[in-house]
Amino acid sequence: MDSKFVIYNTRSRKKETFQPINEGLVGMYVCGPTVYGDAHLGHARPAITFDILFRYLKHLEYKVRYVRNITDVGHLVNDGDEGEDKIAKKAKLDALEPMEVVQQYTNSYHKNMNDLNVLPPSIEPTATGHIIEQIAVVKQLIDNGYAYESQGSVYFDVRKYAADHNYGELSGRKIEDMLVNTRTLDGQGEKRFGLDFALWKNAQPEHIMKWPSPWGMGFPGWHTECTAMSAKYLGKRFDIHGGGMDLMFPHHEAEMAQAKACYGHDNVNYWMHNNMVTINGQKMGKSLGNFITLDQLFEGTHELLEQAYDPMTIRFFILQAHYRSPLDFSNTALQAAEKGYQRLMQAIQNIDSLTPSKQSTVDIKGLQDKCYEAINDDLNTPILIAHLFEGVKTINLIKEGNQKATEEDIQQLKDLFQNMAINILGLRDCVEGDQQADVLSGVMDLLLEIRAEAKANKDWGTSDKIRDQLKEAGLAIKDTKDGAEWHLL
Ligand code: ZN
Repeated sequence: MDSKFVIYNTRSRKKETFQPINEGLVGMYVCGPTVYGDAHLGHARPAITFDILFRYLKHLEYKVRYVRNITDVGHLVNDGDEGEDKIAKKAKLDALEPMEVVQQYTNSYHKNMNDLNVLPPSIEPTATGHIIEQIAVVKQLIDNGYAYESQGSVYFDVRKYAADHNYGELSGRKIEDMLVNTRTLDGQGEKRFGLDFALWKNAQPEHIMKWPSPWGMGFPGWHTECTAMSAKYLGKRFDIHGGGMDLMFPHHEAEMAQAKACYGHDNVNYWMHNNMVTINGQKMGKSLGNFITLDQLFEGTHELLEQAYDPMTIRFFILQAHYRSPLDFSNTALQAAEKGYQRLMQAIQNIDSLTPSKQSTVDIKGLQDKCYEAINDDLNTPILIAHLFEGVKTINLIKEGNQKATEEDIQQLKDLFQNMAINILGLRDCVEGDQQADVLSGVMDLLLEIRAEAKANKDWGTSDKIRDQLKEAGLAIKDTKDGAEWHLL
């Protein structure tokens, strides 16, 4: 396939034309959530960013294997090698089995993702489900001379790695600068060098999540899981690895180093990172009182919110910024996004009622080219949306009779909006009223079926009851020779 699709590669720090390793199957890995609490705004952005990528690759007719993991062990509260496991801490706090915590927050994450119309990945592996694979990675690193055991834990030897490769290649950091920010001094504790990171951690007897290993009872380090699971499902070299910018260091830098130390080569062709979200200009944080969960956002139950916001408003708002730009949430910005989204959806509905002319004064093909140019340019969704609004203007002008469109133009417009807004941007193509109408029609089909069965069984009591009570509710049933019809009174 001759690709015009260009993506920004964090490693090379420039835009590169996307060329898959294997035309038959594109491999894509994205770091998923650590499931110890409700999903929040910070989870929505990477999920939606890489959902657009997944949808667009499929639109380009690639077969895609999208792996997004669930971290359910090994992520410590301070993101480093010391302190409690996030899941274990929450389990203790709520007097739950750790896997109960994992299940509860995995379920709520899935529900929120479904609300946001984020497609499920092809595979969603968990860290606890891949302990054997992680132990194998750690063993390989020891065998290759890039890791060492120390008091039942295993650490990655950053000095050894840095002698052969570039530690800091992905994040652009220098070892000297990184050392300034590390608390562990050389020769202190279990590590030989302050920047060494845990591949496997020895578990204290009171630790509740632990497994047997060649180094005793313990649990995997946070970075090990992604190296093990991406290799298992996508191979030792795959196309795209994504995640939030906050994961670039240490998590992705460590992943890159582990893979190079294991295989002698990079395992990822394109590294992609989405920028962060802020709220009213501030970083999101529990201590700042601006930590808004997705449920609170959808229900309008956080004190910073003036109203509830539909998940599609959130999705549309996130897409109005380029994924590599920062994005600030505020009530004003969300309310503007809500209006914009509704205008777009209304215009899509209006396409069906346009009257075709014999002549044409519009250039739909030109508009389509501009839309593709935008999405091909490193998923530039804000520019794509701007072009779609040009289309909205055109639709309204045709509707008012101020522009002329042929039947073919109208069909092209319909296809364009279906592809760009619905399939690629993943915006749901119905407004609330439509959804309710769909539900009502489903319920009425069911009631008419029950009534038909009752009649077939000569159960006149039930059949009359359904008819009479529906009439009270404002719905009339009319018997026809093919069954029954209904309409609002
Ligand atoms: Zn990861």
